[in-house]
Amino acid sequence: METRIRRFVPVALAIALLSAAHAQERFQVALWPEGAKGAYSLTLDDYCGDWARGVGETADAIARAEGVRFGFSIIVGQCGRAQWEKARSMAEWGHEPLNHSWSHTCPTEEDWCVASSQRRHWTDLALELDSSTAAIERNVGIRPVTFAFPFDRWLPEQRAALERLGYVADRSGQGGRVNDDEPDLPAHYSADALFPKDDPGRLRFQSFSLDSLPKHVAARGGWATRTMHGVADASWGSLDADEFAAHVRLMSRLRRERKVWSAPPGDVVLYAAMRDRVRFGKAAPGGAHGGMLVKYENELDSLAALRPTLRLSVEVAGRGVKRAWQGDAPAKTVCEGRYCWVEVSPRSGEFELEFE
Ligand SMILES: [Zn+2]
Repeated sequence: METRIRRFVPVALAIALLSAAHAQERFQVALWPEGAKGAYSLTLDDYCGDWARGVGETADAIARAEGVRFGFSIIVGQCGRAQWEKARSMAEWGHEPLNHSWSHTCPTEEDWCVASSQRRHWTDLALELDSSTAAIERNVGIRPVTFAFPFDRWLPEQRAALERLGYVADRSGQGGRVNDDEPDLPAHYSADALFPKDDPGRLRFQSFSLDSLPKHVAARGGWATRTMHGVADASWGSLDADEFAAHVRLMSRLRRERKVWSAPPGDVVLYAAMRDRVRFGKAAPGGAHGGMLVKYENELDSLAALRPTLRLSVEVAGRGVKRAWQGDAPAKTVCEGRYCWVEVSPRSGEFELEFE
């Protein structure tokens, strides 16, 4: 991944200087929604695997109660009808369905990896990539945009095939490290895997304890992703329900304090990609509520439509914004010092601002 880190200033792209009378206002997409300093994505792997039943049966309810959205990586070939129905409900609520391949065998022929897959590895890419994508779209109702490689192993031709299928992100990074703020499309991101407490590999391969990872991006910025498995089940590194609930409460608190935006990986990648792909027009009088109208165009319009929960934040410097609307609906607005954050749809359109 490119390492172009801009940690200290909001990304100053797509700046539109307005008419002379309103030259003080600049519109740009905020670094992260709600003024957060960093972003954090939690992904639970092996959904539909017998051993990871707790993803659907336990983790989902705990996270929903706190309003926390996570990614869940689906082993497509293991899913039965009841699990597909549950997956659809989870995705409709806001969790992101990731494709975790059809067979969950090793994508390469490396010895350790194949040995971990009952001596099997990928031979049929049409099944592992194309058929699994189609099955998720058909059964969950959302075409997946993020692919989680089993065992975090991959080959260049597999990444290329994912790009042709329209994926915007795949988990194929180096593990442990925190991703920068600006993933390019398609993003190849890293995750820190949660090891079982008694696994000696934990000391060598896991970089952060569970709670210290979101705290790290709260303090330093950037985008961190945690990969774990199930909750209260037989999965690798499974967490107790209480431990998982405590972590989810931490995510919820950091979001309320506007320190960390918690969102599934596909949302984070799409949001970051929108920062330099949204063009703002000049503000002009003529809004239905007597305010100034601002038109904007998002080059990623079609992708934004996949994630209806994604919100584009617009940062406004200069005078405070008294009120904002999108169409007839008030747009959520928070002003703080020189800046206001206005939430609007990620789809191209227009919004209206009334200044103080
Ligand atoms: Zn897995």
